[in-house]
Amino acid sequence: MKIIRDPHEMRAFGAGRRTALVPTMGYLHAGHLALVAEARKHAELVVASIFVNPSQFGPSEDFSRYPRDEAGDLAKLASAGVDAVFMPSAEAVYPSDFSTWVVPEGLVNRLCGASRPGHFRGVATVVTLLFRMTGCDVAVFGEKDYQQLAVIRRMNRDLWLGVEIIGAPIVRESDGLAMSSRNVYLNGDERERALALSRALGAIRDAAAHEKSVEALLARGRSLLEHVELDYLEIVDAATLEPLVRLDRPARALVAAKVGKTRLIDNLAL
Ligand code: AMP
Repeated sequence: MKIIRDPHEMRAFGAGRRTALVPTMGYLHAGHLALVAEARKHAELVVASIFVNPSQFGPSEDFSRYPRDEAGDLAKLASAGVDAVFMPSAEAVYPSDFSTWVVPEGLVNRLCGASRPGHFRGVATVVTLLFRMTGCDVAVFGEKDYQQLAVIRRMNRDLWLGVEIIGAPIVRESDGLAMSSRNVYLNGDERERALALSRALGAIRDAAAHEKSVEALLARGRSLLEHVELDYLEIVDAATLEPLVRLDRPARALVAAKVGKTRLIDNLAL
């Protein structure tokens, strides 16, 4: 497994071979490794990137304390059989006079975009840069970040980036909590309370078997979210992310909440 820090070297590495990219911010768990396994099905070379992207964090968010474990991550990626790990420095990605951003509109005004202004500008820009630096043909993203996946699909189409975008299902702990690098922040009591997110989504999915009113389904979900600080609970069109009134097409329930100081997200297909 090659470790590459220089973007020029990265670009040369995959040249001429079908390459799949799995972008991550490190502190890897089984959810990330499932993306690597998915990537393997679509390409000859699999590259995982590890880059904690400063531009997608707000000023009061957790950039400086975001968990990092380079040695552990490299061991996991080596066992998962990736061909290369791309770990550029912040200076290589954002030179001091960097001044060109990818600013998505539309999809980003709601859900996580509403509570994290500038977040998707940072995501869209770094994903574009990672696509260009790796020259990837395919990129795999988790449905865990459902709005992010939608933003990236649309950006890829709008800007003719020409990458095949693959979405992979959410990997969960045995009790239902969606795996996340940020789960490490949770203490024992918070870890217990965090289960409310997946339980609320599960209750909505179960109720959706007979109840088609979105307001009634949201009320059912909210009743299970009393012990977390709810940011949003929404049921939207699975493709456009527009809010629905009735469940009359493929839909997605999405939730974001703070548990203690930790912001968690989760979602489920309805
Ligand atoms: P992150 O390192 O949190 O930026 O995530 C990197 C990639 O892994 C993104 O495409 C995420 O959607 C994906 N991911 C994170 N957690 C999970 C999970 N529990 N299941 C599936 N994919 C995930």
